[in-house]
Amino acid sequence: MEPNPKFQLEGARGHVTRRDVLAALGVLALGGCVARTGGDVRESDVEAAQLLDDVIGVDMHSHAAGATGRRTPAYDLAARMRSGRMTAVCLQHTSDGPVIKRDPQNRVRVTREPDPGELWRFTQSRLAWFDNLVQSQGLRRALRRGDLEAAHRDRAPAIVQAIEGCQFMEGRLEHLAEVHRRGVRHLQLVHFMRSDLGDNQTESPTQGGLTPLGRDVIAECNRLGLVVDVAHGTLALVEGAARASRTPLILSHTNLASRRLDPFTRLISGDHGKIVASTGGVVGIWASPTFTSLAGYVDGVTRAVETLGVDHVGFGTDNSGFGQSQAVWTDYADFPLVVQLLRRKGFSATDVGKLVGRNYVRVFNQSVPASD
Ligand SMILES: [Zn+2]
Repeated sequence: MEPNPKFQLEGARGHVTRRDVLAALGVLALGGCVARTGGDVRESDVEAAQLLDDVIGVDMHSHAAGATGRRTPAYDLAARMRSGRMTAVCLQHTSDGPVIKRDPQNRVRVTREPDPGELWRFTQSRLAWFDNLVQSQGLRRALRRGDLEAAHRDRAPAIVQAIEGCQFMEGRLEHLAEVHRRGVRHLQLVHFMRSDLGDNQTESPTQGGLTPLGRDVIAECNRLGLVVDVAHGTLALVEGAARASRTPLILSHTNLASRRLDPFTRLISGDHGKIVASTGGVVGIWASPTFTSLAGYVDGVTRAVETLGVDHVGFGTDNSGFGQSQAVWTDYADFPLVVQLLRRKGFSATDVGKLVGRNYVRVFNQSVPASD
């Protein structure tokens, strides 16, 4: 272990390392019971460190580094992923971003009708932002079957480029082929703004779930090779999507409700999640601020596994997607802590591997062809 110079203190027996200080404070007991950083895990927990090398870490839903709307990247995402040994992040902007706003009650609402062409132009400008991010930070794009495994093998941080909501289409199916050409491989059908693809959870339903256009979009995703994400959709929309899609569904960011669902909630029932699981798909657990700690987040993942099974749960942190509130897991450098906590929950090494990314890799490889 290289001592961190910040924590080197002169003592009777020479310098004292950061770990000594933490141990003295009871933070790191013998055997390394409680680690505070990803680096601590790699230094103090041999088994978790080994596991970390073997697993493919994927976040199924993220707006990290300002992907939603910042003019320039907020930080070096690739460096944080490399530090935490994360392999891939499904990184997205929100297609309806220019016309939605969080109100004082923390509910996201549409503020005005978009101008014709506005949301397509907005998405085009974000696609250019992604091009710049990939180039300036040395990120890879996962574009074909097997690319996530290759990124892991090469220790090369990757993004699965995604878009949250299909408002950029403005009714034109051919826009899907254009975003696919620009590197998008993961598409969420609906978001906060009402959609002609189907009903979302946060407005009163008026379309009976998935619309014929929504079915056409799924067929086009299946044809082009895009992962289909039903987050924000109503139960009826998810049922329709499960019937329509030839590939497994992702529901990238939510939590299973522990009690009766409130109106307009973004949480889902166990039955809602089981429809996703029945397609062979995966539900991503939100690192929502309500969890208050990483351990609480891992408890949420564990509860979802109890209902949906270990093959159908993953991470969908919604990094930077909570407005003023901080997600409970905001820095990919902390991935080793999550791996350690899952292992200590009693999941086998194989099951930890599934939860942290293998389940998503399975769906990605079933959705995206080996060659264009
Ligand atoms: Zn969302």
